[in-house]
Amino acid sequence: MTSTVLGMTTSAAAPAGSEGAITDGTVTDRLVDANERYAAAFTDPGMDARPVLRVAVVACMDARLDLHKALGLQLGDCHTIRNAGGVVTDDVIRSLTISQRALGTRSVVLIHHTGCGMESITEDFRHDLELEVGQRPAWAVEAFRDVDQDVRQSMARVRTSPFLLHTEDVRGFVFDVRTGRLREIDPA
Ligand SMILES: [Zn+2]
Repeated sequence: MTSTVLGMTTSAAAPAGSEGAITDGTVTDRLVDANERYAAAFTDPGMDARPVLRVAVVACMDARLDLHKALGLQLGDCHTIRNAGGVVTDDVIRSLTISQRALGTRSVVLIHHTGCGMESITEDFRHDLELEVGQRPAWAVEAFRDVDQDVRQSMARVRTSPFLLHTEDVRGFVFDVRTGRLREIDPA
């Protein structure tokens, strides 16, 4: 995905005082510093690993989607499974299977979003990679043209998975990165 540079503005959510700039050290150093402050104020919530709301959310990794804030979620509420596109790959099914069978979740929420990078690349991405590195990836790019249709087929993949225990409550949405609003996709 590194070759797919999207036209985005710089982060408005950078830690206060940093102005979003990395002045010294690497970005990871900055994260580790932030963790020191987090841990200093942290108290053990004494939680079980089972998500309180018994829900697993599958969403795109897009930096503009703050899943917990956008859905009013608290620490411990849900499983969060994210990847490029929020697509339902075999590995997402693996996580959902463990989520349901070992950790008690029952509902699945799928979230794609407007302006997704997956709409601007195609399966040619694999071919181009092969030409560049001499090896074709085993994985599908899972690019899509129509975000609504991709949410629909993602819902279908979850609903038809033989590994999942609970497929009655599977709903899909498109998050609008400009308004912050979810739009539900009719599965039919
Ligand atoms: Zn995306």
